[in-house]
Amino acid sequence: MRGTRHGVLITNGPEGTIEEDAPACAHCGHIMSVKPFCDPAAFPNGRCKICNGLICDNPACHERCDPMEKKLERWERDAKLLESMQSG
Ligand SMILES: [Zn+2]
Ligand SMILES: [Zn+2]
Repeated sequence: MRGTRHGVLITNGPEGTIEEDAPACAHCGHIMSVKPFCDPAAFPNGRCKICNGLICDNPACHERCDPMEKKLERWERDAKLLESMQSG
């Protein structure tokens, strides 16, 4: 999309171009495109009660708390495991 960078919302306003962080789903990392005047906290079901992160409309993200951070930790661990297996 023109004028849109990954993870950043670009708004053309009277004061010029404003770049702001687009909220990403705390569980799957999906970038949610919210209108600039719309507060992310206004999403009725958009917040996980467990990790208190904003989550997207994906049903899987509402089923259980599986934060992106934990996923990354897991991937890192798997990568280290793979590394140790390869070197060993
Ligand atoms: Zn999600
Ligand atoms: Zn969560």
